[in-house]
Amino acid sequence: MSNEKIKRRGLLLVLSSPSGAGKSTLSRSLLEKDDNISMSVSMTTREPRPGEVDGVHYNFTSQDEFDALVAADGFLEYATVFENSYGTPAEPVEAALRNGKDVLFDIDWQGTQQLNQRVGADLVRIFILPPSKEELLNRLKSRAQDSDEVVAKRMAKANSEISHWAEYDYVIINDDLKAAEAELFTILNAERMKRARQSGLSDFVSGLIKD
Ligand code: 5GP
Repeated sequence: MSNEKIKRRGLLLVLSSPSGAGKSTLSRSLLEKDDNISMSVSMTTREPRPGEVDGVHYNFTSQDEFDALVAADGFLEYATVFENSYGTPAEPVEAALRNGKDVLFDIDWQGTQQLNQRVGADLVRIFILPPSKEELLNRLKSRAQDSDEVVAKRMAKANSEISHWAEYDYVIINDDLKAAEAELFTILNAERMKRARQSGLSDFVSGLIKD
């Protein structure tokens, strides 16, 4: 754990992957085990899937409302994925960072590029890869939430998604969930301890060397 006595800037942690690489499971685990990070709830125009709760998994909205927020410059980033609009409302993220909290993002490469332009140094980008193509297909099928047609579409999209891996700061190959989780915590804790993020350090050091 980083030293939480020293004041520090929050960071934005992005997890991206092709659908089915285990990103959602890793995100959930991080949120359960770490009190200092919260999830950015995206806005989307797609229909809720069974079990999805408005305001928790997404803020589900109409295309008109989405377009109005785009026009008002209210998104940190937004993109069209599988013919639906997805975006990150700016206000809740900025509020969290002001309070020294980290924010987790489950977004694709397009959103990550936009976030990078907007927030730069506060961003930590992690790409999750499946251990093999076969395993990716198995995971997509075993979800059973989507139709065969949707599974096929996602599989086709995985190749182009994966081609963006080199735009990320870290890559985790999710073969064993526990190992992937440990790698994720290692990255987060090291990033939190970066000198530039520990805004309270200079005061702390001044106190140390004062006569
Ligand atoms: P799903 O419909 O399966 O929940 O998400 C489809 C894709 O949209 C995923 O790759 C997910 O990462 C991406 N996505 C979800 N929310 C956002 C967002 O706010 N911005 C962007 N750019 N992509 C998002």
